[in-house]
Amino acid sequence: MDILGIETSCDETAAAVVRRHPDGSGEILSDVVLSQLDLHAAFGGVVPELAARSHVTTLDRLVKQALDESAVNLAGIDAVAVTSGPGLIGGLMVGLMTAKAIAMAADKPFVGINHLEGHALTARLTDRVAFPYLLLLVSGGHTQIVLVKGVDDYERWGTTIDDALGEAFDKTAKLLGLGYPGGPAVEKAALGGEAKRFRLPVPMRKDPRLDFSFSGLKTAVRQMAEEQAPLSQQTIADLCLAFQTSVTASLDDRISMALQRFSERFGNESKPALVVAGGVAANKAIRATLEARTAKAGFRFVAPPLHLCTDNAAMIAWAAAERLAAGLETDEFNLAPRSRWPLDQAAAAAIGSGK
Ligand code: ATP
Ligand code: MG
Ligand code: FE
Repeated sequence: MDILGIETSCDETAAAVVRRHPDGSGEILSDVVLSQLDLHAAFGGVVPELAARSHVTTLDRLVKQALDESAVNLAGIDAVAVTSGPGLIGGLMVGLMTAKAIAMAADKPFVGINHLEGHALTARLTDRVAFPYLLLLVSGGHTQIVLVKGVDDYERWGTTIDDALGEAFDKTAKLLGLGYPGGPAVEKAALGGEAKRFRLPVPMRKDPRLDFSFSGLKTAVRQMAEEQAPLSQQTIADLCLAFQTSVTASLDDRISMALQRFSERFGNESKPALVVAGGVAANKAIRATLEARTAKAGFRFVAPPLHLCTDNAAMIAWAAAERLAAGLETDEFNLAPRSRWPLDQAAAAAIGSGK
């Protein structure tokens, strides 16, 4: 089964062709991503209007490139998949209209995919991870712990009650005068930091809800920065390290609790996996801490390659392939984009958008 996937929910325009073999394994035949980073850098964050306009001008070319590179022509494609939410509405509309037009013209089935489901299932494409497993999604727009029980079967165990972790990195970088995106800048600066100089609280430590919170931490950094002004390079590095240490400890605490709950419910004799996804998973300090925690709890640590952890269309095509293989239905051409769309059925129903 060969699927053409399209992703335009945020600031990456992407197209890919992915093959699902009868034995359940996957193969990426092409994977093209055009990041809009430069477009938004001057504004210190993603500007929705600019993002949508850029998707419009580049998507056709990327789809053509993905088809050409895959050597599967449109006639050979089994379905067209597109991110239909959650995300920025303008970008979602561009992707949906393009995918619908292609599917209609080529007379192919059409599938709208939840972006989060794409992130959730990527580890099965790269590492053939078996259900059930735990997913930690840490990106610019999301911070969630999700129990992945099967295709279309998810339980959200925790989410952020304020900022997403990537967003917190970006805001912290901005207030310290570092560039955008902030994550890599903070990580780099933290390398030269002095560990004992500033100490920040660890958000949500031991809180039984498994949720996250990062905005208080960012405010604490702002206050410290104001007290220390004008900021020397050393002080910036020290603050970055304090911030990174504190968020790492918070993730460690939340994940260790989640792993314990997973073990209580499913056991861990079969060495189940903790899968990490999202741009923040690139952070070496965070990665090392989670890897150690996972090993200690008797789990396997799975981190798909970074280009598949951040936004891409291969994960969208793959999610569609998994859904179709599981016998789930395709969508009608009147499918509407959804800016909000929790993965968890119960959470989705709670905001009146259950699918
Ligand atoms: P979403 O996928 O939720 O729609 P997004 O497109 O912003 O949002 P990604 O592209 O997965 O998310 O990740 C980008 C985020 O990851 C940014 O907030 C960036 O600062 C953060 N990030 C990238 N590298 C690092 C790093 N080394 N350390 C910490 N954060 C990082
Ligand atoms: Mg992105
Ligand atoms: Fe994403």
